[in-house]
Amino acid sequence: MGESHGLLPKGILSTVGGTPLIELEKIAEELDFRVFAKIERFNPGGSIKDRPALNMLLAKVQSGELVPGKHTVIESSSGNLAIGLAQFCCYYGLRFVCVVDVRTTEQNIAVLRAYGAEVRIVTDPDPVSGEYLPQRLRLVARLAAETPDSYVPDQYANPRNAAAHRTTMREIDEALGGRVDYVFCAAGTTGTLGGCSAYVRSAGLATRLVAVDAVGSVLFDSPASCGRLIPGHGTSVLPALHDPSAADHVVHVSDLEAVVGCRRLVGREAVLAGGSSGALVAALEKMAPRIPAGSTCVLVLPDGGDRYLDTVYSDEWVRHHFGEVAHLWKDRVGLAPAKNPDLEETVPC
Ligand code: PMP
Repeated sequence: MGESHGLLPKGILSTVGGTPLIELEKIAEELDFRVFAKIERFNPGGSIKDRPALNMLLAKVQSGELVPGKHTVIESSSGNLAIGLAQFCCYYGLRFVCVVDVRTTEQNIAVLRAYGAEVRIVTDPDPVSGEYLPQRLRLVARLAAETPDSYVPDQYANPRNAAAHRTTMREIDEALGGRVDYVFCAAGTTGTLGGCSAYVRSAGLATRLVAVDAVGSVLFDSPASCGRLIPGHGTSVLPALHDPSAADHVVHVSDLEAVVGCRRLVGREAVLAGGSSGALVAALEKMAPRIPAGSTCVLVLPDGGDRYLDTVYSDEWVRHHFGEVAHLWKDRVGLAPAKNPDLEETVPC
């Protein structure tokens, strides 16, 4: 992970990045192109967000702008960035105040506290939009104004968030010897998408980037406006980082489609992945009819399924939100070669 900041991380932080790339031969059995997955849960904090956490803070510590025992880092996160920052701040002895909301799982909050983070939970959504993110951002701004020597990395606007993912794309490119046709990125802050796109452009690659957004998100003209149950991909506030031209294709995925993608991924490949990873699987299936034979596709799987045992992997939770839908992954676990030729076709939310 030394590329974008030029300074080498130490200790546990030296293991951020360099995640494995595996081929998904079983789920892609009926397809006429190859599918690989970059398994970001192998980062020490368990997700892709270890990369931007490190890249946003390391240079500041090493330049003396952030001083252990003096400075406080304050940030809003749905979970994964928070854990990455908590891990970093714990290693360097920085105080970390993390703003989450009631949708953040108890397990994630326990992990944050285990790293020594202080957790502030927003309980009421924004009265106008009904979303939690605007309220979380307001609380971050208030805490920053009240706390002397505080620093807000602001993942939604910080170019070092996106820059961290130049390395993600470089690793994919190097592992596949420069022969990558499509890379599927779940888009939230759009850091992953933006950083991969920057690398593709600067290296002059022909790789096309597929942005995977949630139905109901404000990022890429969602076909419907609705609440979202699965954190990670999609957002309710347009990030300053967002550059729509970073995506060559956009696919919207509903919560149910993301759940089905997760269940099929674990059922066929034994890859227990998070909700946005299921969205990538669903997006790949929707794109499949447009992908030329012989292509190589990569799904960047942001995190593991352990953080979703009470939601995506709970039969009770799935039944409560979507009804009796188990046949959707039990009857067909591989991806269909020519399903959903119309990309706009989505399961309504
Ligand atoms: N999936 C998961 C599980 C995430 O935690 C995130 C980050 N919020 C994303 C996808 C989206 O990544 P990015 O912020 O780089 O767009």
